[in-house]
Amino acid sequence: MDSTAKKDIRKFTLEQLEEFFIEKGEKKFRAKQVYEWLWNKSLKNFDDMSNISKETREMLKANFIINHIHVDLMQHSADGTIKNAVKLFDSKIVESVLIPTSKRITACVSSQVGCSLDCNFCATARLKRMRNLNPDEIYDQVVAIKEEAETYFNRPLTNIVFMGMGEPLLNYANVIEAIDKITSPEGLGMAARRITLSTVGIPKMIKKMADDEVKFNLAISLHSAINETRSQLMPINDVNPLEDLAEALKYWYQKTKRKVTYEYVIWDGINDNEEHARALAKFCKIIPSKVNIIQYNPIDEGEFRQASKDAVEMYVRILEQNGIVAKVRKSRGQDIDAACGQLANKNEVAQLE
Ligand code: SAH
Repeated sequence: MDSTAKKDIRKFTLEQLEEFFIEKGEKKFRAKQVYEWLWNKSLKNFDDMSNISKETREMLKANFIINHIHVDLMQHSADGTIKNAVKLFDSKIVESVLIPTSKRITACVSSQVGCSLDCNFCATARLKRMRNLNPDEIYDQVVAIKEEAETYFNRPLTNIVFMGMGEPLLNYANVIEAIDKITSPEGLGMAARRITLSTVGIPKMIKKMADDEVKFNLAISLHSAINETRSQLMPINDVNPLEDLAEALKYWYQKTKRKVTYEYVIWDGINDNEEHARALAKFCKIIPSKVNIIQYNPIDEGEFRQASKDAVEMYVRILEQNGIVAKVRKSRGQDIDAACGQLANKNEVAQLE
């Protein structure tokens, strides 16, 4: 290896590291020790690897760097939610959120810097997509929140949701690699069933996930079960209409036998009538599913307003009449712009202005 061009050691698989160690005349098992320091213990410096000799550490330093993320700014909400602005190796910023409830501590992580989809109710859409996150950058967000859960709540991290910035299915390979590390014993050893991937619903990729036999949960940002309305809200629906989504979901259920969660915001004057509620109930019967009705988090002065309490109750009633479980979710972390759809690197933008 060329020692003038140091490589990011976490880009290497365990097998590759083992080969490297053998090549350097080191013992093979040392590679595994280093690998565990890097992933399971998330060390940021070679010098902290206490069971590795000084000589080997110097050799590693001469060949590699560790590109760890850095939490640039941490904000605490009055409701306990914590938002991290995370600086990446190239100084780009993404945000991740710790959401505490009585039973759970959930990490909400980003999969891309910005987002290429133009959902017009979402603040992240305004940032556009800058790049995909690497597997280690996704992993590190989880580690940062796991440490904060222990420090500030004295509790373990219990769940992970891919509901931060970006569309995880447009960065599929890296998201899968991150989840592999999160669930593996050399990584964090978390159970896949505690992980949920949320997507706008890209049919081709939902089928791929089914073929790959992924073990985590799937959530779809539906927001309308009527094509015309959904396309107005989420332009991706023009090329991936509800019929295609429905077909992909049937394939998913056939292969995985696991139900899906629909995320749904009810907006004043957009989807707050019975026609929309009935269309949702019908869509929910395609495969076993449940609905999370999420509160709209305002992102500007504008266009979109949360529907009335009556409209939300009407939806719940119609869904329940159809035997569908619907939960109304309270918004968390709104005061620090940490709620769904509010992640937009606001502090960084403010600094630039
Ligand atoms: N791209 C993925 C994950 C990121 S968004 C996806 O679309 O699922 C996470 C959730 O927040 C999605 O359900 C999204 O539709 C929702 N969301 C976006 N903007 C919102 C807003 N302003 N208020 C409430 N929910 C919002």
